Amino acid sequence: MDADILVENCIVVAMDGRPPITDGAIAIKGDKIVYVGKAEKAGDIKAETRIDARGMVALPGLINCHTHVPMTLLRGIAEDQPLEKWLRESIWPIEAKLTDEDVYYGTLLGCIEMIKGGTTCFADMYFHVDAMAKAIEEVGIRAAIAPGIIELGFPETGIAMLEDAVKFAERWHGKAEGRIVAQLGPHAPYTCGPELLMKAKQEAERLGIFLHIHLAESVKEVKDFNEKHGKTEFEFLEEIGFLGPKVLAAHCVQLTDKDMEIISKHGVKVAYNPTSNAKLGNGIARAWELHQLGVDVGLATDGPASNNTLDMVETLRWAALLQKAKYRDPTVMPLDTVLEMATIGGARVLGLEGEVGSLEPGKKADVILIDLKKPHLTPVHNVKATIVYSAKASDVDTVIIDGRLVMRNRRILTVDEEAVREKTGEISRDLMQR
Ligand SMILES: [Zn+2]
Repeated sequence: MDADILVENCIVVAMDGRPPITDGAIAIKGDKIVYVGKAEKAGDIKAETRIDARGMVALPGLINCHTHVPMTLLRGIAEDQPLEKWLRESIWPIEAKLTDEDVYYGTLLGCIEMIKGGTTCFADMYFHVDAMAKAIEEVGIRAAIAPGIIELGFPETGIAMLEDAVKFAERWHGKAEGRIVAQLGPHAPYTCGPELLMKAKQEAERLGIFLHIHLAESVKEVKDFNEKHGKTEFEFLEEIGFLGPKVLAAHCVQLTDKDMEIISKHGVKVAYNPTSNAKLGNGIARAWELHQLGVDVGLATDGPASNNTLDMVETLRWAALLQKAKYRDPTVMPLDTVLEMATIGGARVLGLEGEVGSLEPGKKADVILIDLKKPHLTPVHNVKATIVYSAKASDVDTVIIDGRLVMRNRRILTVDEEAVREKTGEISRDLMQR
């Protein structure tokens, strides 16, 4: 067999239901995986690039199901504030001043940070999306991009934003060798009225793409919505016919039992953002119960202005610990579940499970190598425990996305990391003076 890249002599956690493979190997041809198994059986595979991954563990690239990557530029500008004040007084006024160039560099920086932490695919909702797509294409990462749509009492604005979003989807869906897929991102039921939400749903159905929305994030949001409409956001959205299996709902922290039934009944996908929800004082989502109900739950960081990182390795740990603390039960959210939510489960949440999320022949080659030769990762009795509870983003050594080496020995190979870091520093300083 011929391959382009052969990763050998590592532990392979394939996330395909099999136990970890010791002395494993992964062969990649073009953008696809062609072999996953014992290294000894890969002996006759000829490959142009051979990676001796002794002392490392290979796993599918991590999937971040909800973020706003260009907000790297706003990291640290508004701290220790509740969501509503944070959004209205700090974030929205600055976001109004962002240009395409700002977003392009903010995206590059965020993608570099994600790759350096083992994230190979993310779902984003933001503005200036063409600039984002250009950055994503250059860095070589995989993404689902939802142009944000907000009306806030101005219906014409909402419709114009939806029209632009549809045009973006028509331009970019399936582009960058298939690494970019489009979604439509009506921001939330408190910023978009029912007509706009349903128009967005019709367009998404016509295009065969996902809707990406914020739901039930803060106590105040939910309380205000209930007072205004006499029902919860989920009851409201079910009534108007918005919900379905191609709806990605971010947060879902403040849920009633009935809301959880509605989510399960309509096959709504959920992005659990443990760190952002904790930092903004929004609470801890009932992620374990949703999982028990059979709901597809993925892990996410949310934007780097409310986290303040895009670190999915850290999110693995938080996702597990917070659930155990919430339910006062160490058996909930076990290792396998939390790793699944960050890989194959996350892929399901984005509708990409046929392409990514596990290491299997025929799937796209999104593979990361974590270097276990570190004091804080020694000894390795249970490799999944090592990854979830002990590893750090900085332990990720090598990242392959779509069959292309984008990081090797922690060096980014597709863009100039230092130049991007300096430029984004300049841009964010300038942004605060505008
Ligand atoms: Zn968000």
